[in-house]
Amino acid sequence: GEMLPTDLNEMLSEFTKLAFHGMRAGKHPIELDLQLDLDPNLPEIKLIKEDFSRVIINLCNNAFDAMRAKLQSKAKPGPNGYKPQLIVRTRFHQKYIHLEITDNGPGIPEEIKDKILQPFFTTKKGTDGTGLGLSITHDIVKAHGGQIKIRSKEGNGTNFIISIPTN
Ligand code: ADP
Ligand code: MG
Repeated sequence: GEMLPTDLNEMLSEFTKLAFHGMRAGKHPIELDLQLDLDPNLPEIKLIKEDFSRVIINLCNNAFDAMRAKLQSKAKPGPNGYKPQLIVRTRFHQKYIHLEITDNGPGIPEEIKDKILQPFFTTKKGTDGTGLGLSITHDIVKAHGGQIKIRSKEGNGTNFIISIPTN
């Protein structure tokens, strides 16, 4: 692929809406609240589009898996129960574009936080997980000169922040 000036906000609305509909219509549909909080002042950024779309898809898929697992484990659905929520946010700050993907799933246990970017690390059973999603994601982000930050609170959810320099 080629690095081309890209409107990341547009890309995100496209991909997340597709993923959102997939989640509600697919093999294991779940009710999901999707919030897009996109910075209107986001500049265009040079991206390899095919690669960066993988980043969005991988992070969304992980969030969906996590929230689906939480839904199946304990959480009571309904008005006072658990409602899966995905927030996709962009910000432009000090010449960096920040892309934040936040879920309210089970979170990441402290003792595996250091391992999840490694190739083949997975907590998913059988053929559900290859453990390659985040390592590929990390490689793509690094190839764009960026970095990944992970914040997570067990029980409350997970927040991935991808930061990419605009110059
Ligand atoms: P896979 O999805 O195939 O397991 P990944 O590299 O995408 O591989 O993710 C590695 C592991 O990181 C997952 O198995 C899971 O334990 C953890 N993980 C990733 N994203 C999340 C998330 N949003 N919430 C909870 N755990 C996560
Ligand atoms: Mg994955």
